[in-house]
Amino acid sequence: MRDLLKRRFGYDEFRPYQEEAIRAVTSGRDALAVMPTGGGKSLCYQIPALVMDGVALVVSPLIALMKDQVDGLRANGIAAAFINSTIEPAEIWRIQDAALRGDVKILYAAPERLALAGFQDFLSELRVSLVAVDEAHCISEWGHDFRPDYRELSALRRSLPRVPFIALTATATAQVRADIIAQLGLRNPAQFVAGFNRANLYYEVRPKSNSVDAIAGLLRKHPGESAIIYCFSRKETEELAGQLRDAGFSALPYHAGLADDARRRAQERFIRDEVPIITATIAFGMGIDKPDVRLVVHQTLPRSIEGYYQETGRAGRDGLPSDCVLLYSYGDKVKQDFFIDRVEDADERQSARQKLAKVIDFCQLHTCRRRYLLEYFGDATAAPECDGCDNCLADMEEFDATQIAKKIITAVIRTGQRFGIGYVAQVLRGSKDKRVLGNGHHELGVYGIAMDYSAAEIRDIAALLAERDLLYKNSDEYPTLGATPAGWDFARGDETLTLSRPRRVEEEAAPAARRGAGVRDAPPDFDEELFGELRALRARLAAERGMPPYIVFGDVTLRQMAYYFPHSRESLSGIHGVGTMKLEQYGDAFLDAIRAYAERRGLGDRTAQMRQVMPSGQRQLIGDGERGQDGRERGQIERDRGQGGGAARQASTYEQTRELLAQGLTIGEAATRRGLTTMTITNHIDRLVAEGVYIDLVPLLPPEGVMREIAAEFAMAGGVGAALKPIKDALGDGVSYDEIRVVRAYLTQRQGGGSGQ
Ligand code: ADP
Ligand code: ZN
Repeated sequence: MRDLLKRRFGYDEFRPYQEEAIRAVTSGRDALAVMPTGGGKSLCYQIPALVMDGVALVVSPLIALMKDQVDGLRANGIAAAFINSTIEPAEIWRIQDAALRGDVKILYAAPERLALAGFQDFLSELRVSLVAVDEAHCISEWGHDFRPDYRELSALRRSLPRVPFIALTATATAQVRADIIAQLGLRNPAQFVAGFNRANLYYEVRPKSNSVDAIAGLLRKHPGESAIIYCFSRKETEELAGQLRDAGFSALPYHAGLADDARRRAQERFIRDEVPIITATIAFGMGIDKPDVRLVVHQTLPRSIEGYYQETGRAGRDGLPSDCVLLYSYGDKVKQDFFIDRVEDADERQSARQKLAKVIDFCQLHTCRRRYLLEYFGDATAAPECDGCDNCLADMEEFDATQIAKKIITAVIRTGQRFGIGYVAQVLRGSKDKRVLGNGHHELGVYGIAMDYSAAEIRDIAALLAERDLLYKNSDEYPTLGATPAGWDFARGDETLTLSRPRRVEEEAAPAARRGAGVRDAPPDFDEELFGELRALRARLAAERGMPPYIVFGDVTLRQMAYYFPHSRESLSGIHGVGTMKLEQYGDAFLDAIRAYAERRGLGDRTAQMRQVMPSGQRQLIGDGERGQDGRERGQIERDRGQGGGAARQASTYEQTRELLAQGLTIGEAATRRGLTTMTITNHIDRLVAEGVYIDLVPLLPPEGVMREIAAEFAMAGGVGAALKPIKDALGDGVSYDEIRVVRAYLTQRQGGGSGQ
C-alpha cells in the first residue's frame, strides 16, 4: 500500500488513520472516518478502490467538486468518472457502460441519482467493490447540513449487504456519529476519529479599525497567493472587492445573489489561480477544494465557532503554513444581534445567541486560541504545543493593575451591578451619553476617573478581573457585571494587583515589526524565484489541459523542487507528490526549468540530502510532520530515545529539529526540510535549551558584531528574561526576531539555564 501511495499519489507517508482505514475497508469491514478538512479522507477509499476487485462507488453531495476530484485522479493515471445532473444522458450511458465493462475503478455519483430507477438497475448489474459516503453527516437530521437524498443510502446498504461501506465526514459529534452508523446500517464499523488540530494554521484576532488597510496589509504578505475574505453582506463583498482593486489587487466578489454563471466564473478563476482573492459571504466555500489557500480573513464575526472552524479550515489544506485572521469589533456583534433578535423561533434565537457568545469569547480570549477551538470540539487530545496563535506568540507584559482594577470594580458597584462593561466603561470615561446622564451617573465619584483608558482596554481588564474572580458575569440576555466578595474586599483594601496581557503593538508599526506578522515574514529558504517560475510553468501546463494548477503539482511539491533542485528523473521522483504518472507527464518540463535555472546560478542537485538526513522511519518531508494529530508526535522531548521505543518510534517534533541542526543545517534549511517556519524552529530551540538539551548554537549565531549588539540589549533590558519586542525595536529592521531568539538561547545556555549534556 505504501508502494501504491508513492507510485500513484507521490506521497511518502500516510497521514494519521489513513492506513488503518484503508486496511479496514480492504479487509471487508465497514468503517467510519472523522477527519478534519484537509486530513486526507479521499485516500481512505481511493487506495482500497485500486486494490479491490470491481468499481468503488463514491456518493458525494458536492457536485462542483466531483470534476476536480476526478481530474485529480486521472492526472495520477487512475480510471475515475462521475455521474451527476451536469452530465448529458448519452454521456451517462457511456460512463455506465464503461463501468460495467470494468474500465472505471472509481465512480462518483450525486445522492439524488440513487433514487432513479435507471441508476438502480445499473447498480444491480455493477460489481461494486466498496461504497464510500462522503460528507456522511448529511444523512443525519442532527447535523447542520441534512440532505433528504441521503436517506436513499439506507436502501443501497440493504441491497449491497456484503460490500464494505466507509462513511467520511469532517464534522460529527458523538450523536451524529451514532446516527450515521444507524442510518447507514454499518455493522461493527471500525471508527477513526482524528484530532481537529490544524497545526499549520496560525490564528489571530485583531481589533478592527480601518479594515481595508488592514486587509491590504495582510494581502501584501501573501503576494499572488490565494486568499478568501469573508464579509458580512453581499454589498460588502462587492464594495471590498472594488476597494481592493483600487488598491491594486486582483479580487472578485462571490455571494449567493450573483447569477449562476457569474458565481461559477468567480469560483473557476479562483481555482485556476487567475484571480487570487475572493471577497465572499459564507455562501463561498462548500464547493472549494483548493489546497493552497494561504490566508482566510474574517472581516466580520462568524456566527458560530463551527462556522469559523470550517471557514478557516479552507486555508492550508496542503499542510503548509497559512494564516487565519479575524478582524473583531464590538460593533459587529451588535450588527449580528440585530439579526438574531429577528429570529422568530425562541429556541433558535436562544441557540443563535449562545453560539455568537462563544465567538465573542473566542475574540476576547487572552489564552491560546487553538486550545479554545479544540476544547470547543471536545477534542480529547487538546493540549497541543501551540506556536501558531497571536496569544501564544505575544510577548506578555505584566502591569500594575491595582488602580484601574479598583476603579472598575468600584464603578460596577456604584452603578448598582446592573450594567454591562460597555456602560461601566462609559461612566469611567466620562461619557455624555443620554443613558448615563439619565441615570444620574455623571454625579458619581467614579464618573470620568479613567479617561486615560480606552473602552477596549477597560473591557479587556474587566475580562481579566472576571478570570481572577473579582468580578462575575451574569449571563442574562444582556450580560451584566457584579463584584464578587473578593472584589468588594479588593476595592476597599490595600492589596496590589498585577495582571498580564499581550504587549500592545502600535497599529502603525511597520508590518514586519508586528507580532504575529513575524510568523510568515521569514519563509523557509526555498528559492523563491525558482518557486515563482515553477508556479508559472504549472499554470501554463494546467491552462493547456483545462485543469486547476494544483492538480498538476501542489505548492509543497514546487517548494521542494525549489529547494532540492532535482536534476534527473530519478531525483525528481523522490519529491513529495511526484508519482509515476505525473513524472511521465510533467517531469521533463519541470526538470528543464529547474536545470536551466540551476545552471544560471551554479546550483547542484541536492536531493541526496533528503535521504541522508532523514533516517528510515522518520522520512518526514515537508507537509505533514507537524499535523499533530497524533499525540506522540507532539509530546515532550524524548530524552530516552533509543532505550525504550527504539528506532521504530517517531521522534518528537523537537527531536527532529534537534537532529537536523546537529547535522549542520541552518535554521532556514531545517525549516524548509520540515515544512515549518523559521519561527517555529527557533521556538523549538528555545524549548530544547530550556529543557537542558544540548545544541551547538555557535554555528547558528549571527555575525559577531550583531551578536554583541543583541547581547548588549539583553543586558540593558535586565537579562534574558526581557521581552523581545523592545529589543527588536531598539535593534531595528536589520536584525530579525530569529536572530534575537537564537542569541537569547545561546546566552541562556551559557548561563547554565540549560544544563548541557
Ligand atoms: P479531505 O477530503 O479530508 O478534506 P483530501 O482528501 O482532499 O482531504 O486531502 C487534502 C490534501 O492532502 C490533498 O491535497 C491530498 O492530496 C493531500 N494528502 C492526502 N493524503 C496525503 C498523504 N498521505 N501525504 C501527503 N499528502 C496527502
Ligand atoms: Zn496558541
